[in-house]
Amino acid sequence: MAKKPGFQVVLYYVTPPSAEQLQGIWNFVLSKYVNDERSADDINFSVEADESLGGGFILKCGNEVYNWSTRGRLGQFNEKLQAIRRKVGADEDVISILKTTADEFRLTARFRRSGYVVSAGDGIARVKGLERAEYGEILIFSSGIKGMVMDIRREDCGVILFGKDTEIRVWDEVARTGMRAGVPVGDALLGRVLNSLGEPIDGGRDFEAEGFRPVENPAPSIISRQPVDTPLETGILSIDSMFPIGRGQRELIIGDRQTGKTSIALDTIINQKGKGVKCVYVGIGQKASTIAQLVSTLRKAGAMDYTVVISSTASDPAPLQYIAPYSGTSVAEFFMHKGEDVLIVYDDLSKHAVAYRSLSLLLERSPGREAYPGDVFYLHSRLLERSARLSDEEGGGSITALPIIETQAGDVSAYIPTNVISITDGQIYLESDLFFLGVRPAVNVGLSVSRVGGAAQTKAMKKASGSVRIDLAQYREMEVFTQFSSDLDDATRNQLRHGRLLMELLKQKNGHPRSMVDQVIMLTVVNSGVIDSIPVEQLRDFLDIYLEKIKEEEKSIVNDIEMMGTLSDDEKYFLVKRAEDHLAEFMSIR
Ligand code: ATP
Ligand code: MG
Repeated sequence: MAKKPGFQVVLYYVTPPSAEQLQGIWNFVLSKYVNDERSADDINFSVEADESLGGGFILKCGNEVYNWSTRGRLGQFNEKLQAIRRKVGADEDVISILKTTADEFRLTARFRRSGYVVSAGDGIARVKGLERAEYGEILIFSSGIKGMVMDIRREDCGVILFGKDTEIRVWDEVARTGMRAGVPVGDALLGRVLNSLGEPIDGGRDFEAEGFRPVENPAPSIISRQPVDTPLETGILSIDSMFPIGRGQRELIIGDRQTGKTSIALDTIINQKGKGVKCVYVGIGQKASTIAQLVSTLRKAGAMDYTVVISSTASDPAPLQYIAPYSGTSVAEFFMHKGEDVLIVYDDLSKHAVAYRSLSLLLERSPGREAYPGDVFYLHSRLLERSARLSDEEGGGSITALPIIETQAGDVSAYIPTNVISITDGQIYLESDLFFLGVRPAVNVGLSVSRVGGAAQTKAMKKASGSVRIDLAQYREMEVFTQFSSDLDDATRNQLRHGRLLMELLKQKNGHPRSMVDQVIMLTVVNSGVIDSIPVEQLRDFLDIYLEKIKEEEKSIVNDIEMMGTLSDDEKYFLVKRAEDHLAEFMSIR
């Protein structure tokens, strides 16, 4: 019979062990590792000097490590320190805690089965000796830092680190937790700013969580879903009228840098005030200052009361950026499973894909198109599939997702944009040229679409918006066509004038979402064409005065639109008639 390869036992030391110590250690090895299959002869025992231990010994038996070194003990002390920090965070009597912990603390040698670090750097550690560790499991390093297993090989496993890799050194102990990455969830999260692990980063107190949810969860099945039919109003006229978003839908916001992508998402969050929708904003790879500004905008608008902000800034390690959207979705799922409607914004998934690419490259996975790994589609599909509208048996809650993608020079056919376009139920395409022309929000009407669309629009809005999209498309075409000709026939001139008014109507400053009633009335009036003769620059003033009048005098129409979402033919005719009269009055005083 072939002899089994020897069992390697290595003793690392700083000061050479005495004969007595050596005998003791040998006896320990014999007692532990000699069994039916292995005799004392099979054990290759060797000793090696290693200055970095600081003092004491490390005994490595096959894949198991016994750490009696000074550094190992310091590791234990660090764990205690971490515990103290956590407690102090909870604002107890600091001195007494320090006292008791110091009393309780004894330096003891550890005989715990654990792994050890073979290399660490760039946010990744390679760990040996944890054969049973599972993919996605959380590991704890002796310095208190947590990591997640992302790569399992025959020899070792690759771990992404949720803390600074500089605090992890070769030989550090690593223990399994048997748990998957998760975040605390609960109503107490509302109004807070958290990192991707669910820890508050707004300087506020710790909160009382109602539970804990893994960051990765399977998407709801087909049976537990129902079709999208309730509108989620963004408050942005051009979106609500032409590309309506329904609760449970996933609508992509895509555009170059600085085209107002974040503003659309923010306005949508602000517009949910009083509508019973909870919001989650996930910032991935944003500047900390941008997030601070965003939180203050939300706070000023009173939107933080129903919003959770999860942020992993550009300076955070890639692993934290990678899990941020999954953590955010878990928080959203908590509300959805309670039967509530949730809006979640991922700002932005391009940076998320980049973070995942750097992780994958560091884990030595083979690069594919644009150096992204092969599973980058799955990265976003498993995330966005978790947005859904649950059936009534499941409570009827929903998650509406607004992922954001940043394009380079308007290129929507790059790898990540095409992936996400194919996963979502439509996109709002923002264009730099329009933005610089002053058409803001810079929505490109031709390239934007909402595939759930009509089902998620109230009857009133459907009636009011009519053919806006087609009118606008025709106007844009004709505008280019007539640029060089001077004498136009009346029909063309009218169409151009109408188009120009529509364009003006759809301009909307950020931070000023409009109610559905306002939108319906304005659209009805402008679409009817009765005010086409008004100079473009006076449209806004006219509509403001007109709206105020209608809302004051015609409560029943306003009520129908607001409560029932309907606008009868008579009401429409009446609104148009009133606009015509009002226009005569308006023009006479100008
Ligand atoms: P980034 O690529 O940096 O994330 P972004 O596409 O998210 O940018 P925003 O930050 O939303 O763009 O907006 C860029 C600038 O344009 C901001 O200063 C914002 O105030 C302004 N802006 C956005 N929307 C409008 C609007 N509808 N009207 C006027 N200004 C706007
Ligand atoms: Mg932005």
